[in-house]
Amino acid sequence: MKFNLDNEYEMPEAACPACGAVFDRASGSGSKPEPGSLSICIRCAAMLQFTSTLELAELTAAEFLELPDDVQRELRRISAAVVTTGAMVQSRQPKPERPALSMWTIYDHPSDLPEYFVARQWLTAPDAPVATSLVIKSITLERLREILSAQGLVCMPRAPNDDPGIVETWL
Ligand SMILES: [Zn+2]
Repeated sequence: MKFNLDNEYEMPEAACPACGAVFDRASGSGSKPEPGSLSICIRCAAMLQFTSTLELAELTAAEFLELPDDVQRELRRISAAVVTTGAMVQSRQPKPERPALSMWTIYDHPSDLPEYFVARQWLTAPDAPVATSLVIKSITLERLREILSAQGLVCMPRAPNDDPGIVETWL
């Protein structure tokens, strides 16, 4: 079984049983989903199976383990990709909630940690990013950049209207 994302199919509306997101489209698999076809929720990455009435049911662990090894691997791979990119199934909801995106903002000697360069983790949220309690501090800016870069993150230069204490942000 191959999951390519070239094909997109209009489907009867179906809700993800795991997160409640409502979808009216499915992408991938080379042919239009039919009862028994496997899918992945774009919003929560749950592994799903179309029922006889083309509703979505969550694949149980036992059902998953009965699948051929290559299908298990492919489902795991796509589920992981959905978590990081979200690109499997499109929703017609006006404002689909997306998984929160993590970003790290580096500050130059902030007032609460005046001896350090500090990277703070923020998560995207519908209105404005929310700061988490995760903080990495270092005497040198280079060390913070090494740590963030080693996580596979990419540096975004500061915007002109960013707070003057902000050095840059990593996504
Ligand atoms: Zn879901």
